[in-house]
Amino acid sequence: MASQLEITGLQVDFGGFKAVNNLSFSVARGELLCLLGPNGAGKSTTLDLICGKTMPTGGRIAFEGEDITFLPEYKRARCGVGRKFQVPSVFKELTVGENMEVARSQRSGLMATLRIFASDMNGPIKGILQRVGLFELRKEKAANLSHGQTQWLEIAMLLAQNSKLLLMDEPTAGMTIQETQKTAEIFNALKGEHTIIVVEHDMQFVRKVAERVTVLNQGSVLAEGSIAEIETNAAVKIAYLGH
Ligand code: ADP
Ligand code: MG
Repeated sequence: MASQLEITGLQVDFGGFKAVNNLSFSVARGELLCLLGPNGAGKSTTLDLICGKTMPTGGRIAFEGEDITFLPEYKRARCGVGRKFQVPSVFKELTVGENMEVARSQRSGLMATLRIFASDMNGPIKGILQRVGLFELRKEKAANLSHGQTQWLEIAMLLAQNSKLLLMDEPTAGMTIQETQKTAEIFNALKGEHTIIVVEHDMQFVRKVAERVTVLNQGSVLAEGSIAEIETNAAVKIAYLGH
């Protein structure tokens, strides 16, 4: 099967420094790929390049067969590329349900209409909130959610925008053990239907969700394979430990 996302020879140059350097990898539809690598390896920059927050200085990004290399961020979002940032972008003064309405109205490219809304939650939003375990909290203000619940709301908002490819940068950072476990369950339920690229340091979490991992170092792929293969890879040990 053809890959959903194909990255070929990608490069970005920040004033002479190549944060991403001849990077190539691909992801199949419905796959969950974990991106690993030491600090500064270029993981976040790679997600920035895929979602269009940063434009590359070389290489190509194809999504569902279409060249999106230089497409503006909002157009990629409409194609189904959804990026979750480390700092959640939920509206704290709105309820969970209202946040979902805003996300849905963004999907169609309309200005968000902040209408008062709560009880007559329609089908797709209800289903999405149930998938992330937030339906019971639909009338709660986002400001009152726990850290983990806020992250799940943001994932739900990406789903409400019809994101097919979910880009997640360290989603479990700051989560409790229970929240991390729940996040693994959510990801496992979403993959298959959605493609997920997740940057994550917590190897226990990675083991629970990923079949395949890609290790970046100095802006390119250092190693790819199963978690067992990566953990015994000598080059990976050197990149992380320096010996
Ligand atoms: P990671 O997420 O793997 O820790 P990043 O992708 O954030 O790494 O950064 C990769 C490298 O690029 C780092 O050395 C970082 O300092 C540098 N970098 C990231 N963004 C910029 C930028 N806008 N300008 C200059 N250097 C940057
Ligand atoms: Mg990062």
